[in-house]
Amino acid sequence: MLNKSFLTRLYALVFTYLCKYVIIGIDSSGENSKKYEYSHLNENCHILDEKLLQSIFDHIESNEAHYIKELSEAVKFPSVSAFPEDYPELLHVVEWSQKMFRNMGFRSDIKFINYKIKQYKRRRENPHKHTNKYRHRRDLLIETFGPPFLFNTLPQSKSSPSNNISLLIYGHLDVVPARRSDGWKSDPFVLTRVGDNLYGRGSSDNKGPILAWINAIRAMIDLKICIPMKIKFFLETAEESGSFGLRRIFKQEKRFFKNIDYAVISDNFCPNVKNPCLTYGLRGLLYFYVQIQSAKEDLHSGVYGGSVHESTIQLVEILSKLSNVTTGQITIPGVYDDIDPLTADEINAYSNFDFNMEDYKKNVGSLGYLLHSSKIDALSHKWREPSLSIHGIEGAFSGPGAKTVIPHKVIGKFSIRLVPHQDPQKVKNNVIEYITKLHKQHNTGNSLNIVIEEEVESWLTNYKNNNFQLASEAIKRVYGRYPDLTRDGGTVPAAVYLSKYLKDPNNSLILMPLSYAADGAHSENEHININRHIMGIKSLVSYIYELAKHHSLLDQSN
Ligand code: MN
Ligand code: MN
Repeated sequence: MLNKSFLTRLYALVFTYLCKYVIIGIDSSGENSKKYEYSHLNENCHILDEKLLQSIFDHIESNEAHYIKELSEAVKFPSVSAFPEDYPELLHVVEWSQKMFRNMGFRSDIKFINYKIKQYKRRRENPHKHTNKYRHRRDLLIETFGPPFLFNTLPQSKSSPSNNISLLIYGHLDVVPARRSDGWKSDPFVLTRVGDNLYGRGSSDNKGPILAWINAIRAMIDLKICIPMKIKFFLETAEESGSFGLRRIFKQEKRFFKNIDYAVISDNFCPNVKNPCLTYGLRGLLYFYVQIQSAKEDLHSGVYGGSVHESTIQLVEILSKLSNVTTGQITIPGVYDDIDPLTADEINAYSNFDFNMEDYKKNVGSLGYLLHSSKIDALSHKWREPSLSIHGIEGAFSGPGAKTVIPHKVIGKFSIRLVPHQDPQKVKNNVIEYITKLHKQHNTGNSLNIVIEEEVESWLTNYKNNNFQLASEAIKRVYGRYPDLTRDGGTVPAAVYLSKYLKDPNNSLILMPLSYAADGAHSENEHININRHIMGIKSLVSYIYELAKHHSLLDQSN
């Protein structure tokens, strides 16, 4: 009988082989790829100097309409990495950007992780999973091999003064989900201009900043200015869903990341709209699933209530003992062991930082008290102290109405943001040991299972290094002031993995955000301000200029 499941199996079998070839087809453009002509960058290009820098700035200012149009094209892709059914959009947006890179003369390759058939076979055994969702073979391809990555390289122009240095830019093309009904004033996937603001999902995180980088380079190409250093772009498409496959792709493609002198990530947010910033530290992340199971099936509370150890009651008891409700301190023994004490330097920096507690409380929309009343305490607990957050309970009843159920299996989800010198392995052990002990003390006989869903270390660099000095000068040229030096309480897995592959793991990478906390990334009505966007593009060109100057790559004749 030709039933649905048979067809699906047949389909899966055929595509096991097809996918192999498709993969090779897309991947093969690596080292043997077609050579693109960029003679315009090699012959008769102008070597960068101060005067040309000014003409690039003018060019950028006159291209506003083009930048807006391009961003609107990018926003139109609903490249939401959280939903497998939107996976094809990840490939669409990657192909769209690949075309742009190739037109600029970049060598550009789409790559997947070599994950292969084992995973695929597992899916085949469970074919109903993709019966309806994956009609297209490319959908199945991404579902099987993970999200696509885009690797782009533009060599230094031949007539540029020779001094082989390279600059790598990282970004992500996926976005978090957005629905009009969430409270958007316009369609989140149609870029909408209101005054100087451009509204759309991804405008500030991270499509806008990626386009700013592309346009910084393109402005130089348009004006036939020699590209003074090798430029590389590395883009991923699952940053918003735990950077699936990222750690692996770095290993797999380590040649691409070899010998990189400078790397920049423009994917976090400056705290003050008035001030540009540079970021020198990020917190890491450990994400836990704690599962308690008490029975095979959900039970009726009228029939069984009072006679069983309920899984939810036990889980809530455990979750309540992870931190102190009044102080916010984590109460898991050992978690604070290896944290650096606050230095005089830091206290000084925090107290001079433009940060107002009243405004902050307003921005948070806090109805209660904040955990800390002083600026120094608030900043240090956001940036350089660990924090624990409880995110939810899977399996517990959460809909409207009064359902009288006893859930048989619940999963508590919480995470700890890690800071420098906290060893993730040690913290993991502390957490597991503590929860196991609590569970034992409860003496319920329920089953306990702890899974670590995500693990990323913290990242910290020295803001006194060369790279920061050059970036600061670059920003000052455009904004007329030095940037704020910030740390960020968030986690960027790419920063941690990437820095390990760079020439100087401790100093090569800087975070140069082009977006601001008030832009509303991840939230409804995410936007960028077009004037700040233009300033941002200029500051990137200015940074390239500073790097070129530092390495004697400017025109020496005048
Ligand atoms: Mn981002
Ligand atoms: Mn994001």
